[in-house]
Amino acid sequence: MSEAFVHRPVLGREVVELLSPVPEGTVVDCTVGGGGHAGLLLDARPDLRLLGIDRDDAALAAASRALERFGARVRLVRAEFSAIAEVAPTGEDIVGVLFDLGVSSPQLDRAERGFSYWADAPLDMRMDVRQDLTAAEVVNTYPEADLAAVIAEFGEERFARRIAAEIVARRPLETTGDLVDAIKAGIPAPARRRGGHPARRTFQAIRMEVNRELPNLREGLDESVHLLTPGGRTLVLSYHSLEDRIVKQQFNEWAGKGPEQAAQPRRLPVVASSRPLVRMITRKPIRASEEELAENPRASSARLRAAERLA
Ligand code: SAH
Repeated sequence: MSEAFVHRPVLGREVVELLSPVPEGTVVDCTVGGGGHAGLLLDARPDLRLLGIDRDDAALAAASRALERFGARVRLVRAEFSAIAEVAPTGEDIVGVLFDLGVSSPQLDRAERGFSYWADAPLDMRMDVRQDLTAAEVVNTYPEADLAAVIAEFGEERFARRIAAEIVARRPLETTGDLVDAIKAGIPAPARRRGGHPARRTFQAIRMEVNRELPNLREGLDESVHLLTPGGRTLVLSYHSLEDRIVKQQFNEWAGKGPEQAAQPRRLPVVASSRPLVRMITRKPIRASEEELAENPRASSARLRAAERLA
């Protein structure tokens, strides 16, 4: 291996602390990545076993190396975490489910995966390279209005319509560099000089679309609570306000607070359940400390929430 799959676990200490009261059993790490959180947890709790899920083969290979020393306590499976109910072990107590959303540093660092706006590479952005939909297809085939909607919603980009128009005018785009050029052309010069790399928000949006990130999160979360044994906990680390909103709404619903109607327009009104499924552990999301932020800028947008399954 020429390069190590390094990924500093975000809020690692806090994740371990929040899982420390769970009973003995199996934790499902839905986003095992490089095995960072998994390793911290298995070291802290010798009575836990772990099922690590990832849809990226490169991540699983890295996790397998990083977690080798735990032997049979660890099983790894390539899967989409929205299918957690199908891959979770039966006949074992599931005492924790962890989601650490988004991309890993190695995915961003390997230029050829097309996640990064720093290097010129094919427009790919797939976490699971067997999937058909790529960034090239989104960029080159979506109707302009749909493209603008993706960029506006997932990227929270005010110049989404202008960027979409630039992209459409330049089709076909072939590389991440072509996409960066289109984005820059779509953002007025004064705005381009503010707030980080001008392509950051649009790249994030297209990545979220290619990987169906929000729908998968809704599905995976929804399943997770039903797998948990009483006293077991679901933890979610999110990096985007839309993700955090989904997590917060789902946790509230489980806690019997009822859905926030306005934010869930497609759902029928639901009567707040009389028997809550969980109790909330984190009233407000946990954020990274100044200390961690100084070492790991990726932690700056991280929000951690936890809920505990009731009997
Ligand atoms: N906690 C890990 C890092 C996770 S990075 C560590 O400490 O090492 C996020 C990982 O989740 C990536 O490897 C990505 O491929 C994976 N991932 C993201 N969405 C996924 C999904 N819906 N299903 C399965 N894996 C997913």
